[in-house]
Parts: sequence; C-alpha cells; structure tokens
Amino acid sequence: MSALIETAIHSTTPASAGAKPSLVGRDREGLRAALIELGVPERDLKMRTSQLWHWIYFRGARDFDAMTNVAKEMRERLAARFTLERPEVAIEQVSADGTRKWLIRLPADHPGEKPYEIETVYIPEAGRGTLCVSSQVGCTLSCTFCHTGTQRLVRNLTAEEIVAQLIVARDRLGEWPGAAQPADSIVPSGGRFVTNIVFMGMGEPLYNLDAVKRAVETISDGDGLTISKRRITVSTSGVVPEIKSLGELGAMLAVSLHAARDELRDELVPLNKKYPIKDLLEACRNYPGLSNARRITFEYVMLKDVNDSEQDAHVLVRLLKGIPAKINLIPFNPWPGTKYECSDWETIERFSEIVFRAGYASPVRRPRGRDILAACGQLKSESQKLSARERLALRAMAMTD
Ligand code: SAH
Ligand code: SF4
Repeated sequence: MSALIETAIHSTTPASAGAKPSLVGRDREGLRAALIELGVPERDLKMRTSQLWHWIYFRGARDFDAMTNVAKEMRERLAARFTLERPEVAIEQVSADGTRKWLIRLPADHPGEKPYEIETVYIPEAGRGTLCVSSQVGCTLSCTFCHTGTQRLVRNLTAEEIVAQLIVARDRLGEWPGAAQPADSIVPSGGRFVTNIVFMGMGEPLYNLDAVKRAVETISDGDGLTISKRRITVSTSGVVPEIKSLGELGAMLAVSLHAARDELRDELVPLNKKYPIKDLLEACRNYPGLSNARRITFEYVMLKDVNDSEQDAHVLVRLLKGIPAKINLIPFNPWPGTKYECSDWETIERFSEIVFRAGYASPVRRPRGRDILAACGQLKSESQKLSARERLALRAMAMTD
C-alpha cells in the first residue's frame, strides 16, 4: 500500500445561495445565455461565446481579468454578474503512486442542511491519465457489493458539476497552459495529465443521461478540453432503454455484468430483475458504432465463492460470444459491513486465463494485479475513507489496458 498524504483544504468561499453564478462547466448555450443576460448584441454572441469558451476550457482562466483579448469594459460587466469559481475541494488525498482523490463538496439545497459530497479520482499510468468522475451523489440502485448504493443522500449532478470535476483535476494537476505542476505529481509519458475519462465514480450515469451527454459534449470539444469521445467511457449497471442513446452520442460503453446467470445477477445487481441478461446483451449487440475497434467493456467484480468459479468463467465467455468485447476483472474492494470478500489471487488468475484463452485481452495485468490484490486485502483494516479512495482507483485502473 502506498503512502498517503491527506490535506484538508480550507477553500475559498464556496458558492452560496444568492451568490453570483459561475460560468464553469456551462456548455456553449449556457455561455450564450449569460451573454444575452448582459445585453450583448446578437451579432457579437458567437464571437463572445468562443472567446469565453477558449479562456474557460482551453486556458483554465479563473479570473475574467485574465481574458486579455476581451475588452476591459466587457470583462467588468462579466465579473459584476458572474464568477469562474470552481466547486469546493474539501479534501485532497495523494498517494505515493500518484493517485489522487478529491472530495468535492457541493452546497446543500437548503440552508442548514448537510452539503452534498462527491468523489473524483485521478490515476496516472505510463501512457495515460484516467479521471474517474461521479454522475450522481449516491445511487438509487443497490447492488449488494457496492458501497455507494448504501448511501442515503441521492441527487443527480448537473452537467456543469460533472464538467467541473475535470476542471478541478486540471487545476490541481497544473494542466493548463503555463501552469505550475505540483512537486509530487506523476506525469504520464505522453505529457498530458488527463487523457481518459471514466464514469465509474458515484452514481448510475444512465439515470442522469441528459446531463452526462451535455458534459461529454463539453469535455470532448476540440476547442477546449479536447478529450475525444473514444477516450470517454460510461459505465452502466444495465439501464437497457438508455443504452442506444449513449451509443448515438459516440461515447464508449462499459457494462457492469458481474454474473453470467440471471439468478445470481438478480442478487448482485437487482436492476437485473427489470432488465435481465438477455435484454442487456441484446442492447449491447445493437450498440451504435460497435466494432472490433470500438469494443464494449464488461466489468466483472471478483467475489470469493460467489461468481469466481471456473464454470462461471466458461459461462461468461460463451455468453459474450460474437460481441466485440473486453472483459475487465475487478478485484472486489471490501467496505465496512459488507458480506463479500475479494477472490484469491490464484482464483483471479485462473479465471483470467480462461477469459484470455477464449480470445479476450488478458484483463488483469499481472504485476499491477498483484498490487491491486495486496491493496484489496489490506483494505479490510483501513479506514472507510481510504477504502473509498482505493475502490474508485481500482475501478478506474481496471478500465485501463
Ligand atoms: N453505476 C455504474 C457506474 C459506477 S460503479 C455501474 O454500476 O456501472 C463503477 C464500477 O465499480 C461498476 O462496475 C461497479 O459494479 C464497480 N464496483 C462497485 N462497488 C465495487 C466494489 N466494492 N469493489 C469493486 N468494484 C465495485
Ligand atoms: Fe449504483 Fe453502480 Fe453501485 Fe450499482 S454498482 S449501486 S449502479 S454505483
């Protein structure tokens, strides 16, 4: 387990009710609406929107005054009505391997109530940096092995709040033109910090699809944040009716399968009772844009003596026959109170071997897998906070191959 440095951040004032709204996270339409509010004439709207877009999403501006090609008078009008504030980062955890987790605090809906909290995790590797983002606070589904499903507070994130997670990551990593990078950062070899996005943090993204879609459009825009849709993966527990729409957007799909038989999947992922495996795989076969170059990732959490037998592996590969797929085996990450345990390393290896022989890229990379399993075992005695960090990190790592 790598050393962990945790910093509680006494942040700048978070946006409170009645405060000036932030433009951070808005799409072009949202920025245009802000400019209309300021009385910018129709003929200038397109040009002004592009200027704001460039400064917010390409340069990471935190202050309207930085926008040197925008007339001073216009900058003052913008600053009088709006801000470029980011959501509050309550805690930052940095592990020695470069993994970072941010606990982001969103204001409560009503004064006196507890604020909402979401997690965003960054995992640097040799040739890529993956950001694992949340799509909801908590989750309304209750997969039996998932900690998020036990959380009481639930609300959808707005598209702006989803995009803001990437902005926060770029702020903290110093990934804007001319920005300084933190001394303890680990930069992937390509030079870019965040190259991939996975919707594998809190929440079920397909229950918040409109916001997820708008966020993906903003994040993938070539004049700003520029993370191509082929590097954005949305993970679903199987909300069948929404899968097609995600494909039309052009994002990559990951499906939390976890079991190859309905009886077991009904128990692990209760949504399976509504959308059983047959319907789910039918939607996968019809996923728009599916090809060998654009495969679906099937996630399979390794639960000791539950879904990890050799027979399970054979049934799994038979089930996925004919679907261009990758299979990611995720070592289960225990949390306080769970009844499940992570499969033994030997069992994961055997399972992985069967999957590999069936023609799927070997999903648990051995050297890293050992690390993961070590972390998995150690987590039993770790605090809940660390377990949450590791849980998210493991998920996102399992996505990378
Ligand atoms: N709700 C979506 C996306 C968020 S969960 C979904 O379920 O796909 C992201 C991934 O983490 C899912 O595959 C989920 O099954 C997996 N996961 C949840 N809890 C886990 C745990 N304790 N250990 C390992 N993986 C877990
Ligand atoms: Fe929700 Fe995904 Fe957790 Fe299931 S695994 S409870 S869908 S976050």
